Amino acid sequence: MDFKVGDFKAAMFDFDGTLTEKGHNTPSREIADALVKLSQKMPIGFCTGRQLESFERRALAHLLAEVNEAEKPRFMENLYLFAENGAIGYDFNAVAGDFEEIYRIEWPKEFIEREKLRTILNEAVKEHGEILYNAHEIVVVMGTKFYYEDKPAIDKVYELAGKIYEITLEVLAKINPDYGKYVHVGNSGIGVIVSPANGDKDAAVEKFGQFLTKNRGMEFDSRYSEILTVGDSAQVGGNDFYFLSGRFGTPYSVGEILPNNPLIQSVKNENGERILHAGGTLKLISGLL
Ligand SMILES: [Mg+2]
Repeated sequence: MDFKVGDFKAAMFDFDGTLTEKGHNTPSREIADALVKLSQKMPIGFCTGRQLESFERRALAHLLAEVNEAEKPRFMENLYLFAENGAIGYDFNAVAGDFEEIYRIEWPKEFIEREKLRTILNEAVKEHGEILYNAHEIVVVMGTKFYYEDKPAIDKVYELAGKIYEITLEVLAKINPDYGKYVHVGNSGIGVIVSPANGDKDAAVEKFGQFLTKNRGMEFDSRYSEILTVGDSAQVGGNDFYFLSGRFGTPYSVGEILPNNPLIQSVKNENGERILHAGGTLKLISGLL
């Protein structure tokens, strides 16, 4: 990898498929431990399609299990969450022991009411999946019909998510051919997210940089290129497409499909082969420690 320790002042990570292996719900102890070590050096932000409660249960609980007493204060200080694909940002408040909202992007009602869209999409995708009505506050999320299964066949899940994605684009185009002005659609491989166009993961990188500048006295260039961004769905239609566009931050992809964007770098082993998912992310973090 062509960066030096010191090139990055903060780091942001997608969760599913980036900190976890493909098809796994939780990060390994090795990844959790590496993240805790990284948090002793710089602010880290998790940028995920999941909502707050799901992140706390699937990720935070596993990270906390790896934090020792000496590491705890810095870990808490340096912990940030950008949930709902970047539409809501949180800072961890160590005193309250909970995440505290730092911004939220509103749903674009002028396009269509969120409830109405959920009803239409739930019907349209029912052969392959359904709207997840559990606790997302801003975005509209669909899971495949295997969502509630414990260990579904992951390739089947990806296939159904692809179908849901295509149907969603058709539905949105019928509502308004210019839907892209109002909403973005992202396929995470395990589900599909419709989010405000101005509240995607790229907005989260900018908001993170602005927050660290204002509240932590940190300095960045105008693109916040000192923020490392890592994800696994940077392809067109993927839910990291905007996150890893390079508009803000310095993007690395650990996904199977490497999009045709010269700004995106990847992680390789000594034979020059790409390392995907959590293995690639682990190597990237190791380079920063
Ligand atoms: Mg992902």
